Amino acid sequence: MTESPPRAWAEIDLSALLHNLAVARKLSGKEVMAVIKAEAYGHGLEETARALDSCGLPFLGVANAGEARRLARAGIKTTPYILGATLPAERAEIASNEWTPCLCSLDEIAHFNQLGRAKPISAHLALDTGMGRGGFLPDQIPEALVAIKSSPGIKLTGIGSHLPVADEDETFTRQQIALYDKIAATIPQDHSPFYIHISNSAGLMKYHSTTSNLARPGLLLYGISPFPDEQKQLKPVMSLKTRISVINELPKGHGVSYGRTLLTRDTKAAVLGIGYGDGYPRSLSEKGTKVLINGTLCPLLGRVTMDQIIVDVTKLSECQPGDEAILFGTDLIVSDLALKAGSIPWELLTQITPRVERRYL
Ligand SMILES: *Cc1c(COP(=O)(O)O)cnc(C)c1O
Repeated sequence: MTESPPRAWAEIDLSALLHNLAVARKLSGKEVMAVIKAEAYGHGLEETARALDSCGLPFLGVANAGEARRLARAGIKTTPYILGATLPAERAEIASNEWTPCLCSLDEIAHFNQLGRAKPISAHLALDTGMGRGGFLPDQIPEALVAIKSSPGIKLTGIGSHLPVADEDETFTRQQIALYDKIAATIPQDHSPFYIHISNSAGLMKYHSTTSNLARPGLLLYGISPFPDEQKQLKPVMSLKTRISVINELPKGHGVSYGRTLLTRDTKAAVLGIGYGDGYPRSLSEKGTKVLINGTLCPLLGRVTMDQIIVDVTKLSECQPGDEAILFGTDLIVSDLALKAGSIPWELLTQITPRVERRYL
């Protein structure tokens, strides 16, 4: 029996991912840790990791032990790096699999030291230079270094910090990176290679750290720039698509969708098979949102429902049920939708639900 195609799907262009990685490498001039947490920003964890595994990256950045385990089970060889503090219950698994954690507290240092008694654990030290989400404050770093020095179970192989406002506040970010570079220069590098990292996508695109030899881009790899003026050099990896199910000729004054948005003229209204149940945000309703059909931008009518949306195709001469519609992709950047939805591209990408079939090109 034939299986029906999905109502909504996401095309994932893995060659675009590799293009963006090349851009990241060129920008950094150094090494790159590909951040693939949260299902690789909605692009599919295993598939994305597989595409990156042969690229010679030192690390793949994940959020927790569960994501690292999925990489191991998929046969991925690149070392998972756990971004952020670990829970005590995760640490034995992290240690035994030789995933790289970042040490955010004296408790973590003590615990990993214990777990690394038989075989020392490679770990990075997390510095909090402004993010407030874990890591040692500048004045706590000497104490952390003393603790690590007396921990034979830990091999310090790097340090990292994180930028909270690299896409919002240039003055703070410049000061923050200068502070980081000053501290980084004082950390003993007893192991080689020793990784020094602070930059996310925005940091990599607009700033320079004198000490860093590794960048940690996420968004940029998926072809979305945190800065609209830098979008051109990147290729969006995901295109979110659906189809027209039916086209209705509705008279002026008729209501459309929940809440009955009233039509101000006779309208050709196409129904599309995607809604907030697919992760297409309901907050895009009544915001001047557009959808691309046969090369023409068509306005969204009324509210986004769970499984369907309605768009105005009155001006479209060529269009019929079955035609493809693009919600976002190369010619309709997800960042513009995020702005309309009062959100950010990171959130829109990661909230595309499993009902949306990922198709790899
Ligand atoms: C998510 C994350 C990144 C990647 O951020 P982008 O803005 O997507 O490039 C880098 N570092 C850390 C610690 C993160 O949590």
